[in-house]
Amino acid sequence: MQVRSPLMVGNWKMNGSLAANAALVSDILRGMAGVTCRSAVCVPPVYLAQMQTLLAGSALDLGAQDVSAHASGAYTGEVSADMLRDFAVRYCIVGHSERRQYHAESDALVASKVQRALASGVTPIVCVGEKLSEREAGQTEAVVKRQLAAVIHANGHCISEIVLAYEPVWAIGTGLTATPEQAQQVHAVLRAQLRAATEHADRVSILYGGSMNAANAGDLLAQPDVDGGLIGGAALKAPDFLSMLRTASR
Ligand code: PEP
Repeated sequence: MQVRSPLMVGNWKMNGSLAANAALVSDILRGMAGVTCRSAVCVPPVYLAQMQTLLAGSALDLGAQDVSAHASGAYTGEVSADMLRDFAVRYCIVGHSERRQYHAESDALVASKVQRALASGVTPIVCVGEKLSEREAGQTEAVVKRQLAAVIHANGHCISEIVLAYEPVWAIGTGLTATPEQAQQVHAVLRAQLRAATEHADRVSILYGGSMNAANAGDLLAQPDVDGGLIGGAALKAPDFLSMLRTASR
């Protein structure tokens, strides 16, 4: 029996407009017959209301790209997990490498954001991954284990409620993809770390992200611990995203 049904998530990053979103989502929804994997798109917060309406009743779930570590109050510009729930947001990316890099998000902050999301019933998609210099220095395992350890430490047994995404920083938006073997190796390390923290580790979906596309998705998804994908650039093209959803549905 399959423990984890595949989950494919598009990360639209800071792209889109009212018109472009409507066209993209309508193309995706029209092509979804026969898609059986779980799927979602993580959109900029200003488009959550639009997307809640467009996705209502469909099999494509709604996601956000970040969440505040605070519940409410004087945090100008931030969006709380409860606010995300108001728009039927099911998933929220937390700790994306672009947030860690450009917004100085620490492991501890990422862990607090995960707590907030879980407390509000939003499933966090927690991103971990090493930089190229760290891989070259043989530190890949140590880096991803440190990043996950902070989240486990703050969230205890609730850790089985997260989705994890291994996203090697050198593969994001670069066209360089981890080989299926490289991805599986890190995913197995993460699974082992989860097993040490919870008896429900086999329920946690571990997605791969980093230049996943229609051509390489099949080989990556064939790995035993690769349970889906977090997809940036290729999720902005309906035919490519649909092709990956179909691959994950086989
Ligand atoms: C991402 O933004 O999470 C990502 C994996 O981007 P890309 O697919 O473009 O590498």
